[in-house]
Amino acid sequence: MNSKIVSRNIHFKEQDERVARWQKKHLTPLDIDMHRDELLALFDAVRAARDLSSSKLNSLIMRLVHDDVVHVTQDKIVAAYRAMTARDILPFEREVLNRLRLKPVRTSSGVAPLTVLTAAAPCPGKCIFCPEVSGYPKSYLPLEPGVQRAAQHRFDPFKQVRARLQSFENNGHATDKIELLVLGGTWSAYAPNYQERFVRRMFDALNGVESESLELAQQCNETAEHRAVGLTLETRPDHITLDEVKRLRWLGATKIQLGIQSLDDHILELNRRGETTADQKRAIRLLRLAGFKLHLHWMPNLLGATPESDRTDFARLWNDPAYRPDELKIYPCGLIEGTELFTRWQAGDYRPYRDDELTELIVDCKRTVPPYCRLNRVIRDIPANYIAAGSTRSDLRLAAQRVLRERGIACQCIRCREVRHEKIAPDELRLDSLAYETDATTEHFLSFVTSRNQLAAFLRLSLPSPHASRDEMLDELRDCAIIREVHVYGNALEIGSDSDGAAQHSGLGARLIEHAIRIARDAGFKRIAVISAIGTRAYYRKHGFELDELYMTRSV
Ligand code: SF4
Repeated sequence: MNSKIVSRNIHFKEQDERVARWQKKHLTPLDIDMHRDELLALFDAVRAARDLSSSKLNSLIMRLVHDDVVHVTQDKIVAAYRAMTARDILPFEREVLNRLRLKPVRTSSGVAPLTVLTAAAPCPGKCIFCPEVSGYPKSYLPLEPGVQRAAQHRFDPFKQVRARLQSFENNGHATDKIELLVLGGTWSAYAPNYQERFVRRMFDALNGVESESLELAQQCNETAEHRAVGLTLETRPDHITLDEVKRLRWLGATKIQLGIQSLDDHILELNRRGETTADQKRAIRLLRLAGFKLHLHWMPNLLGATPESDRTDFARLWNDPAYRPDELKIYPCGLIEGTELFTRWQAGDYRPYRDDELTELIVDCKRTVPPYCRLNRVIRDIPANYIAAGSTRSDLRLAAQRVLRERGIACQCIRCREVRHEKIAPDELRLDSLAYETDATTEHFLSFVTSRNQLAAFLRLSLPSPHASRDEMLDELRDCAIIREVHVYGNALEIGSDSDGAAQHSGLGARLIEHAIRIARDAGFKRIAVISAIGTRAYYRKHGFELDELYMTRSV
């Protein structure tokens, strides 16, 4: 850890009381003695209901169970049912439990995202906008969604994963495919043994057994009931070296979130990011050449920026081949008490954008996002009471979408085109191929789209350029084309699937892989690699890939 870090603990008024209130509301189970009659009435109604749907169940819960202090949720109702049947207050009926949990539903991507937070630790960054609260990872605030859940488990990775799995199951979500997302400060600044133990314990929780080493835990997960089909870690560009890239891959990571915030060296310096655009470009290049999916964070309204300079900055993401990310989060800078930016605002050096300025900026950003990028967020969900001044709107994306619709403009990003829960007719799908250059690769974004341009499946293929420096590539990947991502959406997964829902060779994923192999062969590559998650190794074995050291490869 960096000993020069300046600690700025924030003293929010009534911070502790607010956290305690939040915990009581969200984390306290229902008192089954106090609500006994209400709960029995609910279970009777659930048993008797015909055609029980998710919305019908929710309205029954809202109508029959009231608590002024504790938040009544479906998983607390399931827990109450289990507790009451265990105490013989009523007989256990599997059918009632199934109805309370609803029938399993998949997210539109077929994958359950599971976020885990690392423990509090200093960050090497000194960014002037970044809050620090004692006992929490740098930049995270106690009342942010998910943070209290992690704190409740003392940031223990095993307990966090088990609790989320239980909650998914109580809410009727499928849990066979899990995408792990590790947040909290800068991953690369944590001690290596902390990182290794953290990842191993997440896998242990998915596996339901404890393993003696990370490798054994990963092996075990290949056939576990809850498989990790992705692992995302979050770090800073100036921490990315070839060794770090190798280590991230060894841990099992498939996607890296990089906070770049601005593509302007002057703004980076003003905001004391402690990194330059040269650091960013190098980090992105190393990660892309290693096949990682790249998820960047960009922050408008930094000190020194204006809405117009932000528009110019955003355009660099696509115009400069060194960036061109696969996924993006726009986090407009939030002004938070206790930060250096707050002091600059008090001195009159800084002005947060108004709601209308931010909405227009997001509209202009969204209209320029290319079809190969997924715009995941346009606002960070910071509770309004932390924001000292400026926009507190949490519905910025909806507001921007409304404006785009009124102006007859469609956002082309992946998120806005995903098929979600619509039915797809296989014969209406067409294969699209979009090629674009980066500073080290030619990228092929292959996709199956409907006649309405909705996205049913896609694949990212990277062909390293002959001019890419071999010193920036992992030995294992030299002379390989690389599949960086294969994604088939929930409903599309049914096309060519067997009765278990597992994709067969005739499925969309398989057809995309075959197409990628052809492109690689035509471009003169002899081998193709895939950055497989631990839980997708079996899938790629079916397609002729074998595990080498850190990647799966096959000849073309
Ligand atoms: S790098 Fe991220 S966590 Fe660290 S100080 Fe900067 S914004 Fe905060």
